[in-house]
Amino acid sequence: MQSSHKREGNFVEYEPVIGLEVHAQLETRSKIFCGCSTTFGEEPNTQTCPVCTGQPGSLPVVNRKAVEFAIKLGLATSCRIAPYSLFARKNYFYPDLPKGYQISMYEYPLAEEGFIEIMDQGQKKRIQIIRIHMEEDAGKLKHGETPETESFSYVDFNRTGVPLVEIVSGPDIRSPEEAGDYLRKLRGILQYLEICTGDMEKGTFRCDANVSVRPKGRKEFGTRTELKNMNSFRNVEKALEYEIKRQIAMLEDGGGVIQETRLWDVDQGVTISMRGKEEAHDYRYFPDPDLVPLRIEEKWVEEIRKSLPELPDEKKERFVRQYQIPEYDAEILTSAKPLSGYYEETVKLFGEPKIVSNWMMGDLLRELKRDEKEIDQCPVTPQHLAKMLSMIQEGTISGKIAKDVFEEMYRTGERPEKIVRDKGWVQILDQGEIEQAIEKAMEANPKQVDDYRKGKEKIFGFFVGEVMKQTQGKANPKLVNELLKKKLK
Ligand SMILES: [Zn+2]
Repeated sequence: MQSSHKREGNFVEYEPVIGLEVHAQLETRSKIFCGCSTTFGEEPNTQTCPVCTGQPGSLPVVNRKAVEFAIKLGLATSCRIAPYSLFARKNYFYPDLPKGYQISMYEYPLAEEGFIEIMDQGQKKRIQIIRIHMEEDAGKLKHGETPETESFSYVDFNRTGVPLVEIVSGPDIRSPEEAGDYLRKLRGILQYLEICTGDMEKGTFRCDANVSVRPKGRKEFGTRTELKNMNSFRNVEKALEYEIKRQIAMLEDGGGVIQETRLWDVDQGVTISMRGKEEAHDYRYFPDPDLVPLRIEEKWVEEIRKSLPELPDEKKERFVRQYQIPEYDAEILTSAKPLSGYYEETVKLFGEPKIVSNWMMGDLLRELKRDEKEIDQCPVTPQHLAKMLSMIQEGTISGKIAKDVFEEMYRTGERPEKIVRDKGWVQILDQGEIEQAIEKAMEANPKQVDDYRKGKEKIFGFFVGEVMKQTQGKANPKLVNELLKKKLK
């Protein structure tokens, strides 16, 4: 019936079904199966050994810290930690993979059946975590960039064997925005746990997406495609939006969606077919005979559980309780640990939590979003923001001028006191000066004065605006109101 919707002229509403696979790099000092350093940005191939370059006769030994970090994530996402898990070989050939296989987990992952909560139109929504497993990263290919080297490709094995966790969500996500919310929440958890930097551009947090569409109300899933190569939250959302539209158009045309892997092309803003189902790899997984199964004792899991820090959801509840701010504000302010730290630091200096939240949720986050910056790159410090808010409270500047002060602080990183002094933005509290501005406004608009006196009281707002214009927005609004009422009588 669904396929004939177009001929019958019925409107079919489609619903996207999205599942995400995230690879997160664990911030251990050494690699997952050898003692090589994981420091980023070192000279190529200086952090390698026989194990991570796959030399015959070398044997991997699992890094206990990496397992501990993966367990932390499992617990923080309410997963069941498997008492028994197994490393497996995922076989494929690629120049950045010296062994010819990647050590991963397959049938027996480390953690299963958890969830992450996101906010969906004011309601909590659970996104299932199907599994979390550990694996090693591959190396990095670099293709010649100068005329002399352009016919060469180079491989850097420094990244080979860096520990990763793969987090596989259930097909519970219903929109690109929800995908973004889920990713931000997951990244927040990793950062709170201090086990991953969560930097998408540097590749320490990578995301692939499975996406399909189906007529709303239908149970069965449609044919899905897999999206790769999205290196920012914004790109994930954009790629999903594009792909959902593309799939709906295919169905509306009476054709079908082809199961395939597609690459997101950032420059063109489209997804491009990379390989079809028939070209999909057969990885021929089998248990790695060089590694013993991981047997994780309940006691160790409990120790790790006790060591967990305050996580985003707990912090959110505390913010609502302690600072009396709306859940919506708290959700956003706790989404990243540095953001929550910025908030608490500012509130410590300026004790009006809701006002601080308003400025952060509004002006501050808007500027950061526009510049695609994170809070730790924000030119306005908590000290500066708190000082500016005190200046409003003390009447030194008006709330209106504060908007300009904030912009200037953001642009220059300067202290608010200096900006206000240099720009002459101090609020006018001088009665004489305001009266002068009022008189000027009245002289310039005799007809309006007349109308007002004849009972057209709405004109009052017009005069407030005129006085503010005359004083470049610096007049204290309360005084302007009081004095205007007297003068206009
Ligand atoms: Zn090594």
